[in-house]
Amino acid sequence: EVKKNGKNGYRFYSSDLNNKLQDRIELEAHLRKALAANEFFLHYQPQVRAANNELIGVEALVRWQHPSRGVISPGVFIPIAEETGIIYELGTWVLREACRQMKEWHMAGGPRIPISVNLSSQQFHQANLGAHIHSILEETGLEPQYLELEITESMMMDPAVSNSILSELSEYGIRLSLDDFGTGYSSLSYLKLLPVQKLKIDRSFIRDITENPNDKAIVATIVSMAKHLNMDVIAEGIETKEQLDILMDNDCQKIQGYYYSKPLPAKELEALFFASREKE
Ligand code: C2E
Ligand code: MG
Ligand code: MG
Ligand code: MG
Repeated sequence: EVKKNGKNGYRFYSSDLNNKLQDRIELEAHLRKALAANEFFLHYQPQVRAANNELIGVEALVRWQHPSRGVISPGVFIPIAEETGIIYELGTWVLREACRQMKEWHMAGGPRIPISVNLSSQQFHQANLGAHIHSILEETGLEPQYLELEITESMMMDPAVSNSILSELSEYGIRLSLDDFGTGYSSLSYLKLLPVQKLKIDRSFIRDITENPNDKAIVATIVSMAKHLNMDVIAEGIETKEQLDILMDNDCQKIQGYYYSKPLPAKELEALFFASREKE
């Protein structure tokens, strides 16, 4: 149904659009209350060294337990949180909870591995992001070398994501990793200036890697570039043994993906940490 709109000409009205808009308005209103209502929680996805199946890290991934709709994925609510500014509080909650949890695991005798936390570019607009993160580390007691922050290549387009903040974080001893690498727009000359220690090869290059020689060439190139730049490299989204074999053939040793494990609730990851110890 198209209606004439007095001022700007035509507007399109459809029940479908109305539903989507309504949906979005409800989610947004609810999202504002979700933090106070304790509806967010973290899942943790293992990162593994393929040669010996050693657990080398975990990535914290936020979820929203919506009271009527069930679990909502971050792909849906993070963009809304970013547009509404809720991301500041949510981002702080994620950082604090991830650091607190990893410190608790360390103290309980779990493996001394780092936790990776995704940052939104919005968080760089926060005053004193460096000092803020540093204070979360002090408060939770997690040593800085056990925190890895994931930023994406596309965030580099935002001037707020400045080299000086990244350097400040890096000087604290926090590690930085470039997520979804290869999908953004980073110039290689910029890359060499960034205080980033790790590249995460995006899942889109892995998906068809067994059939697509171009994907394979790109992955091989990223791995080799990382090595020459003295950077760490990990591939995400590995689901099959065939994909894993190609990565290992191309000297990519570190893997994150469903092949090893989906993101897990804290309790299930704990079971994984402590099961091997109990057998000793
Ligand atoms: P990401 O940081 O690139 O995280 C990896 C995503 O790929 C996760 O989706 C994970 O579940 C999924 N994944 C991992 N291995 C596989 C695999 O083998 N196959 C497939 N098909 N998928 C795999 P998730 O948890 O839905 O998160 C989506 C995105 O939401 C993340 O992408 C990240 O950009 C964002 N996100 C998640 N948590 C946070 C957070 O706390 N803060 C911010 N700012 N963003 C977050
Ligand atoms: Mg990530
Ligand atoms: Mg990614
Ligand atoms: Mg992503």
